[in-house]
Amino acid sequence: MECSRHFFVGGNWKCNGTLESTDKLVDALNNVLIPSNIEVVFAPTSLHIARAQQKLQHKEIKVAAQNAWVKGNGAYTGEISADMLKDAGLEWVILGHSERRSLCGESSQIVADKTVYCLKQGIKVIVCIGETLEQRESGDTSKVVTEQLGAVAQALGTDVSQWKQIVIAYEPVWAIGTGKVATADQAQEVHQTLRSWLSSNTSAEVAQSTRIIYGGSVSAKNCTELASLPDVDGFLVGGASLKPEFADIIKSGS
Ligand code: PGA
Repeated sequence: MECSRHFFVGGNWKCNGTLESTDKLVDALNNVLIPSNIEVVFAPTSLHIARAQQKLQHKEIKVAAQNAWVKGNGAYTGEISADMLKDAGLEWVILGHSERRSLCGESSQIVADKTVYCLKQGIKVIVCIGETLEQRESGDTSKVVTEQLGAVAQALGTDVSQWKQIVIAYEPVWAIGTGKVATADQAQEVHQTLRSWLSSNTSAEVAQSTRIIYGGSVSAKNCTELASLPDVDGFLVGGASLKPEFADIIKSGS
């Protein structure tokens, strides 16, 4: 990782947890010494956010949300708005996770629109992108990830201050929850493609300052090698964020 970019580790708890397990996981996080060059967030379910906030004593760790609606408050049953996240004191939201893209039909345009709305409300965004196995095998990885990034880039333009409010999470769909992590070469290749795409389509400054993190079966075993790659600026961690090894993954960025 380039040291001008602050290493970022996010925990994505997905649709898991109880009040009791939330308490336990937050208690464990309260005891982790976070190196000063690492930013850490974790995203419980919407139902467990308030509990996590109550329990969290660590000043260096922030609670995030897993999703937000594309607009503000209104007649959108079952949704949560960025306005509410702001009101509840949250700083970060995950948007465009592959599970939401595939299971809830979220298009790249919707993800871009949500990103713009969240940024307007002062909520920072982890934007997830990534190709399926089929797309990788047919040689379409670059096309897919740059299309997904492109929708966000089109909305943000070249304003570096906006890009500083987002983190791009490259998460190959075939690596999510499968235990099949991308190899160092595969991860570096895509991260570098994304960064040079940003350089050509926004500016060199945006490309250099935007954090591009990796997600997909990150574990205590593979994080050190991945963290050492020049274009990997952190991780989005699913399964392992529910385990004690999350603390080791956080420290791999130091
Ligand atoms: P995983 O999930 O670490 O369990 O593969 C990553 C993610 O979906 O963000």
